[in-house]
Amino acid sequence: MTVPAFAPAVSATREAELLATVPTGLLIDGRWRDASDGGTFDVHDPATGATLATLASATSADAVAALDAASAVQAAWARTAPRERSEILRRAFDLVTERAEDFALLMTLEMGKPLAEARGEVKYGAEFLRWFSEEAVRDYGRYLTAPEGTNRILVQHKPVGPCLLITPWNFPLAMATRKVAPGVAAGCTMVLKPAKLTPLTAQLFAQTMLDAGLPAGVLNVVSSASASGISGPLLGDPRLRKISFTGSTPVGKRLMADAAQNVLRTSMELGGNAPFLVFEDADLDRAVEGAMAAKMRNMGEACTAANRFLVHESVAEEFTRKFAAAMGALSTGRGTDPATQVGPLIDAGARDDVHKLVSAAVDAGAVAVTGGAPVEGPGYFYQPTVLGDVPNDAAILREEIFGPVAPVTTFATEDDAIRLANASEYGLASYLYSRDFNRLLRVAEQIEFGMVGFNAGVISNAAAPFGGVKHSGLGREGGSEGLAEYTTTQYIGIADP
Ligand code: NAD
Repeated sequence: MTVPAFAPAVSATREAELLATVPTGLLIDGRWRDASDGGTFDVHDPATGATLATLASATSADAVAALDAASAVQAAWARTAPRERSEILRRAFDLVTERAEDFALLMTLEMGKPLAEARGEVKYGAEFLRWFSEEAVRDYGRYLTAPEGTNRILVQHKPVGPCLLITPWNFPLAMATRKVAPGVAAGCTMVLKPAKLTPLTAQLFAQTMLDAGLPAGVLNVVSSASASGISGPLLGDPRLRKISFTGSTPVGKRLMADAAQNVLRTSMELGGNAPFLVFEDADLDRAVEGAMAAKMRNMGEACTAANRFLVHESVAEEFTRKFAAAMGALSTGRGTDPATQVGPLIDAGARDDVHKLVSAAVDAGAVAVTGGAPVEGPGYFYQPTVLGDVPNDAAILREEIFGPVAPVTTFATEDDAIRLANASEYGLASYLYSRDFNRLLRVAEQIEFGMVGFNAGVISNAAAPFGGVKHSGLGREGGSEGLAEYTTTQYIGIADP
């Protein structure tokens, strides 16, 4: 399989014009500025390796300046009317929606996902702005008479304070809106550090927030080539009150340890190893359709990506055959080509890691039913791959694959399926396919995952609490739970009136 002939649907001029609209500086106190030492870093197109833009690279001093700005306006921002914050978010939703094509193309250029998927992420990412514009005015406290019947109890929520937000490269818009929108709704000020591989979307999003009327200093953006140079000084600064991190489990653990110094509130959205369970009574065509979505969204570079396909032994052969046929028919290419269904992986290292897992599984006895190798040519493409007969102890079933590779293994009983699903340090997303609703509920009650899809391959929704258990993290994003992550609870005891 090779990369199909490139038929550009998006002209080079359009790409250049869009890239010219992206701010390249650091956003500190409402102004885009250069790094204090003049340093920069380049952002590349993973489909071609070409340089897309050169951004200012924040230093530790810039990070502190960003926190200075956030701290200076925290008290005033916390006092703004919830309706005002709500309306800023609503305008931001409208602006992101108006600029949807720009955001989609920008994500395709810097991250590689096909344009159709990038448009899907714009819709999903924008929904957090709309959802939290609605939640901003519905943050209820409570008032009650103490059980003794004398004193009264008043409970109210307050913004937690200045937050450090760190986002990964795989969903450049949605990971930023999922944190910034509840932060704005709650009345927090923020310092955002996007991933250095895909910061352009966050840069344009931050400008959009300013265009929507967000006051200077509320959102500061410090893109940087040195992640720890940003987090180190901020986590040690007593003015910071919270860190919200989305990324890998090892980095999350390190940040949690550092955050302990100042006893910070933490939200940790970490890695996943989602099981995709297909029971003998499942609608197999529907399961294959769901498997394609759960595996191939974002080329498999998603924390929710189905990582282990556990299929009842009586239907495994048919499921694997149909799944492999659908995977083998996908076309790989640059995301700007409308014919592309699978874009490149983020970089050469990511592609090599995927191939190492596949090779080790094949050496241990797995069979590549389709795919199984990198795609030759420029860019970091990998063949959509289905592996059958994967031994239960293969590393590919334990580690996040983060690529378009689906290992299939079998189970004999419902108890086996539950045991295998739970045999992971991770507990983020999971997917169950069965026609028996009672079985679905029974299994959901016994599996240790923060999110469960019933006959559904995509479950992310701004109105739902997204998050995991075990090494997949702490806290939830989206839903009413998403706002609570950015508030602290204050109780006022009132003497018998
Ligand atoms: P990563 O952990 O390498 O990086 C995430 C962010 O942390 C980036 O901004 C990076 O620059 C920064 N970072 C890296 N090292 C740091 C350090 N020492 N100190 C401070 N910041 C540091 O992860 P990634 O490769 O960008 O993203 C992929 C990972 O993210 C996968 O494990 C995936 O499952 C996870 N993820 C989780 C969710 C979720 O909601 N649970 C969503 C998307 C991605």
